[in-house]
Amino acid sequence: MEQVQSVLNIGVVGHVDHGKTTLTSKITGQSTDRHSDEIKQGISIKLGYADACFYKCKTCQGLQSYGVTNKCHLCGGERELVRKVSFVDAPGHETLMAVMLSGATLLDGAILVVAANEECPQPRTIEHFSALKMHGLKNLVVAQNKLDLVTKEEALENYKKIRKFLDDEGYSHVPIIPTSAHFDANIDALVYALLANIPVPEIDTTSPLKMRIVRSFDINKPGTPLDKIKGGVLGGAVICGNLSVKQKVWLYPGITKPIELTIESLNSNGVSFKTVHAGGLIAIGTSMDPFFVSGDKMIGQLICDEKSKPLMSQNLELNYSKIDRLLDSNKDQIKLGENIVLIIGTAAHLGTIKKIKDNQVSVSLKNTAVYYKDETIAISRLVNGRWRLSGYAQAR
Ligand code: GDP
Ligand code: MG
Ligand code: ZN
Repeated sequence: MEQVQSVLNIGVVGHVDHGKTTLTSKITGQSTDRHSDEIKQGISIKLGYADACFYKCKTCQGLQSYGVTNKCHLCGGERELVRKVSFVDAPGHETLMAVMLSGATLLDGAILVVAANEECPQPRTIEHFSALKMHGLKNLVVAQNKLDLVTKEEALENYKKIRKFLDDEGYSHVPIIPTSAHFDANIDALVYALLANIPVPEIDTTSPLKMRIVRSFDINKPGTPLDKIKGGVLGGAVICGNLSVKQKVWLYPGITKPIELTIESLNSNGVSFKTVHAGGLIAIGTSMDPFFVSGDKMIGQLICDEKSKPLMSQNLELNYSKIDRLLDSNKDQIKLGENIVLIIGTAAHLGTIKKIKDNQVSVSLKNTAVYYKDETIAISRLVNGRWRLSGYAQAR
C-alpha cells in the first residue's frame, strides 16, 4: 500500500445481497467483512473500511490500462498511482440503515450497486440513494452487478430501468458500469469511472477543524504493563481543517461534558502521519483513558477546535421535509408524540415529537446532540417495526 493519505471516501451502497462487500473486496484487495470478527472480539465496527490505490499504465491507453494493482495487464509494465481512496462498505441490512446514513455524511462519492438479476429499484436501493441525495452527493457511479447471471437481453432491460430511475431523480449524469464482482469482470472500467466521476474535493485546510468519529477502541491487549498502556483510539474523517500530532482539540459532547484532549498519533492503514487534513479515514491516538473509548462508545462524537465548537442541546427546533419517493415510511404525516431517529453527523439520536406546525417540528432528544445550524439531519420513522428513512431537516 502506498504511503500517502487517501484523498477521499467512497461509499458502497445498495440493496442487501447485490454484491457491495464482494465488489469492495475486489477493489481494495481486503475483506471489509473482516470486521465481523472484530465484533466477536468486542470491537464492534459497524461500517467496513478499506483503502484502495487506483493506477494507470504510463504507456498504454484505454480502460484496461486502469486498475487496482501497479502491474499493467496489457504490456506487463508498471502502472503509476493516480489516487489513493478509502472505501466505506455500508451494511445492506435494513436495521442498519441508521449506520449507513451516518456514513453518508463523510462521503465524497459513492458506488450504488444494483444487481442485474433483480427488479430495479429495490426498497434499499431507493433508500440508500435518497440518503446520498439528501446530503447533496452528486458524484455517483452505478455498478450493474451480477451480470454473469443474466442474458444480454435481460441485462439491457435492467439497464433501462436503472437509467430511468436515475433520470427520474435528476441523476442522468451518472454512468452505469456493468460488472461481475464474482468474476472480477470490468473492475478496470469501474476504476476509470470512479476516477472520472468522483473528483478529489478541494481540501479545506483553512477552516476551523471538524472531524466526525465513526469508531473508537482500546488497542491495549489484556495484561499490558501500566507504563505501556496506550490512550484510546478514535477513528473518523476530517471534514475540514487540519489535525496534527501534539495538537489540543475538543471532543463533543464528550463524557458528561466536552473534553479537551491531546492528539498523540495519527495513523491510517499502518501508515503514520504528523498532520492530516480532509480526506480518507484516520485513526487518532489520544490522551484519553482507553476505558471510555472501548467498544465504539465514542461513535457520533465530534472533534473540533476552539473556533469550531458546535451547538449542544437536548431540544431541537427543526424545519422538516419528507422524501415522497419513500412511500413505505411516508404514507401518513408524522404525529405528535411519535418517536423518531435523527442522524446528526455520525450520531444517531432517539427523539420524541413535542410540537408540529406545518413543517416546523420540535423534538426532545434522549441524549444531548451536538450540531451546526446549517447541517442536514436525516430523520427515520418506525414503520412495521423497522427504522426507515423518511425525510430530512435543518435545525432552526
Ligand atoms: P452485499 O449484501 O451487497 O454486501 O452482497 P455480498 O457482496 O455479500 O454478495 C451477496 C452474494 O452475492 C454473495 O454470495 C456473493 O458471492 C454473490 N455475488 C456478489 N457479486 C456477484 C456477481 O457479480 N455474480 C454472482 N453470480 N454472484 C455475486
Ligand atoms: Mg455486505
Ligand atoms: Zn501498459
